[in-house]
Amino acid sequence: MIIDLHNHSYYSDGVLSPTEVVNLAKAQECDIFALTDHDTTDGLIEAQQQADKVGLRLIHGVEVSAMWSNMTVHIVGLGVDINNATLQDGLKRHQEFRRVRAEKIARGLGGAGVFNAMEKTQAIAKTDMITRTHFAQMLVQEGVCKDMRSVFKRFLTGKKPGGVGGKWAEYDEVISWIHAAGGQAVLAHPLRYHMTNTKVKRLLSHLAGAGLDGVEVVTGSSSADEITLVGQWAKEFNLLSSQGSDYHGWPNQRVVIGKLLEMPNPETTIWRNW
Ligand code: AMP
Ligand code: MN
Ligand code: MN
Ligand code: MN
Repeated sequence: MIIDLHNHSYYSDGVLSPTEVVNLAKAQECDIFALTDHDTTDGLIEAQQQADKVGLRLIHGVEVSAMWSNMTVHIVGLGVDINNATLQDGLKRHQEFRRVRAEKIARGLGGAGVFNAMEKTQAIAKTDMITRTHFAQMLVQEGVCKDMRSVFKRFLTGKKPGGVGGKWAEYDEVISWIHAAGGQAVLAHPLRYHMTNTKVKRLLSHLAGAGLDGVEVVTGSSSADEITLVGQWAKEFNLLSSQGSDYHGWPNQRVVIGKLLEMPNPETTIWRNW
C-alpha cells in the first residue's frame, strides 16, 4: 500500500493546484492520499472532484499551526468534516492572523529596504492565503537572497526584519477543533522544530495528554535513524503512527509524493481502522 498523508497545494504554500497534486498522487500509485494545506480546507473541494474523476482515495486533511510553550508546532487533522463550524471558525481565526501577520512582515521588510513587499508577494500567491514561503519566494525572485533557506535565516524568523511571532491557537484548542470535526489529530514532523529530543518528548507528552491521536513517524525527509527514534516515541506515548511526504512541489524540494521509507510500526498506524 502506498500511503501519503501530508501534502500541499497552492491553497497554502504548495506550487501545484489541487487537481495537479491529485493527478500526481494517482500517477505515483497512491492508495490513500491526504491533502493537508496550512490552516485551510478550501483546496479539498477541487481535490475531491479530481479524486472522484481519477479514482483516488482522498482523505480530507488540514495542517493547523498551533502554539505549544510559546513555540509554533504543526498539527495535522485527518478525516475532518470540512463543513464543521468549530473547525472552520478556528481556521478563520488563523487566516485572519495570517493577513495581519503578512502586513507586519511586509512593513518589516520595507524597513530593511525591500519595498512593495506586500504587492510583490501577492502577485506570487495563487489564492488569498499568504504564507512566509510566499515572502521567501519573492525575496529569492527579487535577488535579495539566493535561496529559501537563507531568506528564513536572514528575514523571516525571530528578531529579524520580517520576523513576527506566532499567535496561533494553543495546541489543546487545535486538537479539539479537529476532534469536533470528527478527525484524528497528528503531530507533524516532530524533528523539524529545532528542539532537543528531551523537549520533543515533553511536547509529545503534553499533546498526548490533550488527546493527540498520532505522530508522523515517517516524513519525506526522515532518515532511517530518525524513523526508528520517532517510532519508539510513538509507542512510548501510546500514539498511532502516521506518514506523509510534506510535498510542496518547490523545484528544490527533493521530496516525491508517495515515496517514503518503511513504517516501523505497521500494527499501530493511524489508518489501521480506516
Ligand atoms: P508559515 O506557516 O506561513 O509560518 O510558513 C511556514 C512554512 O514555511 C513551513 O510550512 C515550511 O513550508 C516553510 N519553512 C519554514 N522554515 C523554512 C526554512 N528554513 N526553509 C524553507 N522553508 C521553510
Ligand atoms: Mn509549508
Ligand atoms: Mn509543517
Ligand atoms: Mn506541511
